[in-house]
Amino acid sequence: MVDNGIPNETERADQAFRQLMDDYLASSHGKKVEIITKAYHFALNAHRGIRRLSGEPYIMHPLAVAQIVCKDIGLGSSSICAALLHDVVEDTDYTIEDIQGLFGDKIAQLVDGLTKISGGVFGEHASEQAENFRKFIITMSEDVRVALIKMADRLHNMRTLSAQPKNKQYKIAGETEYIYAPLAHRLGLSAIKTELENLCFKYNHPQEYQEIESRLEAERDERMRLYGRFAQPIRAMLDQQGYTYTMKERIKSVYSIWMKMQNKHVTYNEVYDILGARIVFEPKSPAEEKLDCWQIYNLITQIYRPHPERTRDWISTPKANGYEALHVTVMGPEGKWIEVQIRSRRMDDVAEKGLAAHWLYKKDYDSSESKIDEWLGTVKELLKNPDSDAMQFLDDFKLTLFDSEIFVFTPAGDMKTIPSGSTALDFAFVIHSKLGMHCIGAKVNNQLRELSYVLESGDQVEILTAQHAHPEKEWLDYVTTPKAKERIKAYLNQSVGHYRQEGDKLLRAELEKLGIHVKQNYSSDVEQSLLSHYHVRDLDNLLIQIGEGHIKPTSDELSGFLKIKNKVLSVRYWLPSFLQSSKDQGKGLVAEDHILADCCKPIPGDDIIGFIDEVGQIVIHKRDCREAARIKAEQGLRIVDADWTYTSDHHFNATLEVRGIDRPRMLLDIVSAVSDRKGADIKTLTIDTHDGIFQAKIVLYVRHTDDLKAVRKEIADIPDVKHITRINEA
Ligand code: MN
Repeated sequence: MVDNGIPNETERADQAFRQLMDDYLASSHGKKVEIITKAYHFALNAHRGIRRLSGEPYIMHPLAVAQIVCKDIGLGSSSICAALLHDVVEDTDYTIEDIQGLFGDKIAQLVDGLTKISGGVFGEHASEQAENFRKFIITMSEDVRVALIKMADRLHNMRTLSAQPKNKQYKIAGETEYIYAPLAHRLGLSAIKTELENLCFKYNHPQEYQEIESRLEAERDERMRLYGRFAQPIRAMLDQQGYTYTMKERIKSVYSIWMKMQNKHVTYNEVYDILGARIVFEPKSPAEEKLDCWQIYNLITQIYRPHPERTRDWISTPKANGYEALHVTVMGPEGKWIEVQIRSRRMDDVAEKGLAAHWLYKKDYDSSESKIDEWLGTVKELLKNPDSDAMQFLDDFKLTLFDSEIFVFTPAGDMKTIPSGSTALDFAFVIHSKLGMHCIGAKVNNQLRELSYVLESGDQVEILTAQHAHPEKEWLDYVTTPKAKERIKAYLNQSVGHYRQEGDKLLRAELEKLGIHVKQNYSSDVEQSLLSHYHVRDLDNLLIQIGEGHIKPTSDELSGFLKIKNKVLSVRYWLPSFLQSSKDQGKGLVAEDHILADCCKPIPGDDIIGFIDEVGQIVIHKRDCREAARIKAEQGLRIVDADWTYTSDHHFNATLEVRGIDRPRMLLDIVSAVSDRKGADIKTLTIDTHDGIFQAKIVLYVRHTDDLKAVRKEIADIPDVKHITRINEA
């Protein structure tokens, strides 16, 4: 196809290519000009005559991607070639074998990896999306450069997103926000991450973006004037000390400003750190770079007063993505806080280019590359798990991209980096899965804490274990790290079958004693009675709980409710009935006209007694009620014997008093202990705490003492609950 614009377009492409070569030759990589030139000409020919939606010749896209790969990420010739060739196999008639023949195995493998994932992470269906993504991660874990080149590809697609139709814009911005930006962060590509987030925000919230951008623009001159005043004395000091450095202003991105407004619930005017500064210096020698950081810190804080709580030392303990720098926030001119980031040239390269910079500097410095290797190890471990389906994998992988991390110490003083939000249980699994599997709690800074305790940076943690302790389902609520989650799930899956079988055996044996022979399945009558008696939602659950020993059915107990249940199948609830004399035994009359005594608040199941009051109404007391004893002594003739009879739905009040050691989540644990039961509901709950002790009063709606008993047991089982009693009061 002949295109009138071709000479002109080839010229533009050649110009972009010359720029690429200039940047490549200026980098510290080898000078493999020939193969890069060959890749360029091959791609130019392959894509000839094709245009992107923007109307640009297609070759401008691979050129731009190669430019990002070279300049922004700092990769070498193989990656640059792969970037130039990345869409050739996907979009033209050339095959991977062609690439292999012309450019060799290494480049062909990279192109192949990129072709495999060219469809994007997100397919039409959820499962397909996740499967594509898994493929992407497998490819990445084999060669991280595939992920880095993919980042460059995605960045250029985001930069040119306006040419796409609206629905595609949302899709592409959506997956960029969900997975590519966090991944860029994890790979240490901070500049790319910031730009991706900012572009996503622009397409997802065009109006908000516009508003913030125009305010930033309006304040530009004023801000630069302030920066000039701020920087001048620092520069003078650095010059005087003979530093080779660059110092530049940093303006918070539109997206970061918006995030801060959302997270901190502040207005634009209240975002105090829009203006910052960064100093990048050449250390006198690699050994002195940390010392230089602190010396520069010293110079700055001689001029401006530092904020006591906003110094961030990422030098002594780099972030998990390898980030190193010293941050200090000082009180600048005009009463404005200004953050200064202090970095050596190497630290800056690591911060901006991430992974690739680690490789470059590996020989000169003891770099923290191992942390990224560690992360890749975690990812590979996730991939190995045959149980996790694709959707689960996507979620678990997201967890490994955690945003921030904390430092926690072992009793021996070893420091461990873990995601912020990790609990004591997570930490146990970080140290060793054996510790995790038998964990019962932890001593955090010498204080006893439960498994779900959320750790903070600087905590020293000793894990307490017991041989008999094993993972329980609730543990899944306490762990945030994927590794711990996987282990617990694997254990539960394997043990559940075992417990169900045990429970089944036990229950059959007890029923047998009552003459109830269960052949293959439990009859639906028996099953229904069991479920409603034990307040369990299904038979499997019941059998597991019996197998685990949480429920211990005895033939006595079973006979009690199975027999009653057989007689009165359709009515479940209770009302008092009265026996005027012993002759009436067995013919209880349900009394509609009665009241329950305020003094003792009897509920079905309590032993009760009735009194006929002055107006002929029957008042029901508990037999052991002191008020009842008084009435009995004084007015024996008015007594009626009473018992409970099934009837339709009725609720009764009962009050429990609970005392114990106060801790976070106690209230939540109590509430969930009650709300998990079927026959009870909370009417009111009050809680008082002082000196680490809490006292709660819970007024419950219940239907029967069985329900109350079950609730009491649940609450009594909550860790740190020391005392529980039923009280008779309004
Ligand atoms: Mn592409």
